[in-house]
Amino acid sequence: MTYEEVRNAIVAACERLDAEGLVAGSSGNVSVRLEPKDGQELFAITPSGIPYRVLEPAQILVINNEKEVIDGEGRPSTETLMHLAAYRARADVGSVIHSHSIYASALAIAGEDLPPLIDEQVVTLGGGIKCAEWGMSATEDLAQKAVAALDFRRSVLLRSHGALSVGKTLEEVLDVCSLLERMSQIYILARSMGNIEKLPENILEIEIKYYKIKNGLPTE
Ligand SMILES: [Zn+2]
Repeated sequence: MTYEEVRNAIVAACERLDAEGLVAGSSGNVSVRLEPKDGQELFAITPSGIPYRVLEPAQILVINNEKEVIDGEGRPSTETLMHLAAYRARADVGSVIHSHSIYASALAIAGEDLPPLIDEQVVTLGGGIKCAEWGMSATEDLAQKAVAALDFRRSVLLRSHGALSVGKTLEEVLDVCSLLERMSQIYILARSMGNIEKLPENILEIEIKYYKIKNGLPTE
């Protein structure tokens, strides 16, 4: 993919996030891992503080591992450190989205994990989703806590904040964000009716293994 194609894809992704209510205004951010160049790891990322509704492809920045802008003009997203930490921790990750969707954020504000509830959730997201310890926005501390709680899974809730999701491709992460939000909504609704039935341990184990094999992750 050329830089131009990646920039267009990121703007289209932001439009979908906005349309689905997974972000609001300029909150949240989107990045994609690019081909390394001259020994440098490169990433395309949304700029800081520009509302999604007026975001243009030319405003998407190419940065290196040190958060330095390599191509484009402007300041990269305030949560760039969290994106870089996810790429560093997970070689299998090709795209990262930080979202502020309502139901996932509600769980994050309550400081609760999303338990493993249905098969689709486990085989797609990797199981129950943990809520990370609180960290100050835009800091390396938050980045480290997010990545630690993410572990091998596709999403993590950010305490009193929102969510972080990862995947091989941008399209996959968009679907992950949608599923995380849908599962959070289902969980909160089901809880309001009373007892919650989690998936049995033995089924969970098989499905997590399937998730890991499907995504080329170590099974031990
Ligand atoms: Zn945020």
